[in-house]
Amino acid sequence: MKISHQLCDNHESITSAIAKLSNANILFIDCEGKDLGSQGGTLSTLGLGIYNSPDGYYNSREGELTIYIVDVLAFQRPCSGSLDNKHANAQPDLLRSIFDLLASSVVLKIGFDLRMDASELLHGYGVRLTCVLDLQVADVVSRTEEDEVRSLQRLMGRFLPAQEILGNRELYKKVVKLNGLDGALMDQGIKTIPKKRVDHSRWMLRPLSERYVSYAAEDICLIYSLYTAIRDNGKVSLMDAVARSEGYIQYHASCRPSKDDIYQRHGLMPLDEHGDLDTKRTRLCAGCKRRLSSSQFPSLKSGVGIAYCFVCYAVNRRGKLREKRK
Ligand SMILES: [Zn+2]
Repeated sequence: MKISHQLCDNHESITSAIAKLSNANILFIDCEGKDLGSQGGTLSTLGLGIYNSPDGYYNSREGELTIYIVDVLAFQRPCSGSLDNKHANAQPDLLRSIFDLLASSVVLKIGFDLRMDASELLHGYGVRLTCVLDLQVADVVSRTEEDEVRSLQRLMGRFLPAQEILGNRELYKKVVKLNGLDGALMDQGIKTIPKKRVDHSRWMLRPLSERYVSYAAEDICLIYSLYTAIRDNGKVSLMDAVARSEGYIQYHASCRPSKDDIYQRHGLMPLDEHGDLDTKRTRLCAGCKRRLSSSQFPSLKSGVGIAYCFVCYAVNRRGKLREKRK
């Protein structure tokens, strides 16, 4: 498969990209920026990939993955002298054409953990990312048949000590550890070469070096690989995963989360607000501040209090155990 990427930072390159992107039914998406989606966050680049193959198959050897890295700053109005002269004739309307694709309900956007991307687009640009397949959700769905032991093992060591989990299985059996992109690829049998690190505090510097453009493009390649693997594996109903992704990516729709809020920023799957028991009783969680079904909280007889939902209890417990170790 042929893979290419190009930086779009002027009128000519973005106009050409828009023409290609507008004809696609599926866009692979990934954003980069400083504290993306959080309070004080800023978007730097918007990566969009399209796949074309002569025979119409997604994993065809003849196919081509073309990645456009849109330098968002290049199309915004210059601010406080931080941008150089080439941005003086900024054209926000060109970005609008791209944003319309992101908000379109007929173009499927495929990404990995799009919660912060969606937060940044919504709170920073008023764009509601719509019609999405979040592969982090698809990855969780692909583990549905995993037994409880394997599910608990995913938490052990990486999130909480094994003895804590094994001694309190009832408290942790609903807690699902999320995979990062590498972990999800590994679970699908795809080995990746560790990415060369970049200093994320430099995403707002211009000109954007080729190293940063390649870094952004590489994520799109990995997302494409994960998508084809999950789809070909056949374990996940992609329609269901799309339906679940819609709610998942809007997790921060009410406001940007604080970078320091441990209950908003953790590697656990947020609980479904309805729970799995037929109960209309709800409770407000003291951690995530969400109103959830009472079935998503430890019971009174567990003796650990009922203020936190199962996920926030795990987050709180991790914080306490870390404090103790200091
Ligand atoms: Zn909670």
